[in-house]
Amino acid sequence: MKIIIDLEATCWEDPAMRGKNEIIEIGAVLTDDKYNKIDDICIMVKPINNPQLSEFCIGLTSITQDMVDSAVEFPEAMNQLSGFVTNNGGNIWDIDFESWGNYDRNQFKKDCELHDYVYPFDRHTNIKQKYSDILKTRRRYGLGKALRKEGLTFEGTAHRGIDDANNMVRIAQKVFV
Ligand code: AMP
Ligand code: MG
Repeated sequence: MKIIIDLEATCWEDPAMRGKNEIIEIGAVLTDDKYNKIDDICIMVKPINNPQLSEFCIGLTSITQDMVDSAVEFPEAMNQLSGFVTNNGGNIWDIDFESWGNYDRNQFKKDCELHDYVYPFDRHTNIKQKYSDILKTRRRYGLGKALRKEGLTFEGTAHRGIDDANNMVRIAQKVFV
């Protein structure tokens, strides 16, 4: 079983805010080993250090202040993610976590540290890298560019975790299976 995850996080135009990002959305798609979709989940997360979203962040992600105000905090979000895997017959400690790039894994680790929550994933696959390996290129493709290259169009809203994750699964099905 695989879990393909795309995170959204607080962000700012100001470079002084670099590194202060906290997760605000966990978009996750559960698939079998051939990337056939089993289920998906969108968990919104309330950031604790900078609970007020910047205009830049709202513009980029289309996530609103209300959505994070009414969301759960990170530890509860992770418990929900774990419960989602369990309800589908899997186990978060023993699942292939995949994401487009290493950003999502690193951001998960940062939020786990911030909240003293044990990082649950045993292994991670960077599917952006895997995509370049298959094309035998050193070039790295953004999700939108990779979709276009594969003759697919983005479904949903770009920079929403749940939509980004579902579109990754569409590429994976086409290219990796
Ligand atoms: P993405 O999965 O591409 O939507 O990006 C994940 C997160 O990375 C976003 O929620 C932002 O926190 C951050 N991010 C993405 N693109 C940018 C950008 N152009 N400027 C600043 N932060 C960004
Ligand atoms: Mg995204």
